[in-house]
Amino acid sequence: MAEYVTRRNFMTLLAAAAPGALVFAPSFSGSSLLAQASPAPDPKILSDLVAGNHILVRKGVIVIHGHLSVRHDKNPNRFFMSKAIAPESIVAADIMEFDLDSKAIDPKGREGYQERFIHSEIFRARPEVNAVIHAHTPSLLPFTASDVPLQPVQQQVTFLPERVKMHRNGDRGDTIVNIEQAKAMVKTMGNDGALLLHGHGVVVVGNSIPTVVGRAIELELNGRVQRDIIAMGGKPLPLLPDPKGGNGYGRGWDAWLKEEQRLVK
Ligand SMILES: [Zn+2]
Repeated sequence: MAEYVTRRNFMTLLAAAAPGALVFAPSFSGSSLLAQASPAPDPKILSDLVAGNHILVRKGVIVIHGHLSVRHDKNPNRFFMSKAIAPESIVAADIMEFDLDSKAIDPKGREGYQERFIHSEIFRARPEVNAVIHAHTPSLLPFTASDVPLQPVQQQVTFLPERVKMHRNGDRGDTIVNIEQAKAMVKTMGNDGALLLHGHGVVVVGNSIPTVVGRAIELELNGRVQRDIIAMGGKPLPLLPDPKGGNGYGRGWDAWLKEEQRLVK
């Protein structure tokens, strides 16, 4: 967080010195920071981003490999995500800002995740999406490498289509590491709330961090419920999609944040 406080202080001083020259001023060619800077984001989205990563690990959505991102609330062409470390270890100073080509704005020697293109291409193509998760969720992996389609079988995931689509990137569950591969993935996904990646994992989107985290947690549960149905010898009877579904996770988010606050004390 310190970097944003620093930047905000810097810009406040600058505004005092030269009102009207603040931000986005191409004439300020002497300062690469100023030429690139966005307004400081709401600190809440950054603290939610840190907490959201920890919550996803605790809830079994992410096991080491996975990440959460959020669109900049004051510049839709930027987004935030952590540097490339295990999500349970993320702290505020690890959060980096990227443009929609996945280029880091002020890396300070930090490396972003290789798979960040998944996030940037979704943010580019879908203005209604403000938060993205990619994860290798164990309960969903069987559906990424079989002919059993992932289907909504519990009431909290009716944001899904009747069959979740699967995208194939190479023959070995290959990682999406560039704009071209990510564009192909976005095309397969269309306007859906989630997408499976063949032999690899899942992508979930939402209009906010609480929504996307809630969706991913409920989708993880859905994977287990559907496997239970199959293990019982049954056949899934999928629920119908609800255009308004998958947005009411406020109670869950409040509880998960409280748990997070207890744990970080
Ligand atoms: Zn991955």
